Amino acid sequence: MNGRKKIWLAEDEAAIADSLIYSLETEGFAVRWFERAQPLLSALTDEQPDFIILDIGLPDMSGFELCRQIRQQHTIPLMFLTARSEEIDRLLGLEIGADDYVAKPFSPREVCARVRVILRRSQPPAQPLPSSAGLMIDEHKARITLHGQPLHLTRYEYLFLKILIAAPGRIYSRATIMDLVWENAEETTDRTVDTHVKTIRAKLKEIDPESNYILTHRGLGYSLEGL
Ligand code: CA
Repeated sequence: MNGRKKIWLAEDEAAIADSLIYSLETEGFAVRWFERAQPLLSALTDEQPDFIILDIGLPDMSGFELCRQIRQQHTIPLMFLTARSEEIDRLLGLEIGADDYVAKPFSPREVCARVRVILRRSQPPAQPLPSSAGLMIDEHKARITLHGQPLHLTRYEYLFLKILIAAPGRIYSRATIMDLVWENAEETTDRTVDTHVKTIRAKLKEIDPESNYILTHRGLGYSLEGL
């Protein structure tokens, strides 16, 4: 994890923005403040923050509409600031795609705490894999995707492939794989490992028939293509 987490705040009331920015920066976040919706949308085309906080009552666009437009392109965690109970009703009634909301007046510390919880919940993000383009791990959902399509893996297939993806090019012996993947390694045989390689390969090929991600190194073991 390098650098401070970036939070963008859309809030037209300077006093509210000030106290929130102060608290968030004290907690180690880097905050960028927008008084209106449109500049935030424009900025999003160049850069994406780690978290977005939106006031619902913005001068140029409602926070609901702003959220809808953000959600067309991005899955960045998002929280609403709301002043009125009718807004809360709408928030709860709509599938608006926000991760949380806080009602004004709020304590900035509470906002910070909630931001932290949501960020933790959404970690780790899917990790792009430079040397085996297309394979991504989503640990949060215990899922691996190939070219954006989820692989329907069994638990052991998932754990197995995850280990290979973590170190592309590294050759793992069958014994190491057994130790790392299976809880009862002593009940597992070389054949179990080979069978899993076969089924994982077949599932990769269902999505990408040309793929040859898992390489066999005779007498040594397996590696993920790369490096
Ligand atoms: Ca406002």
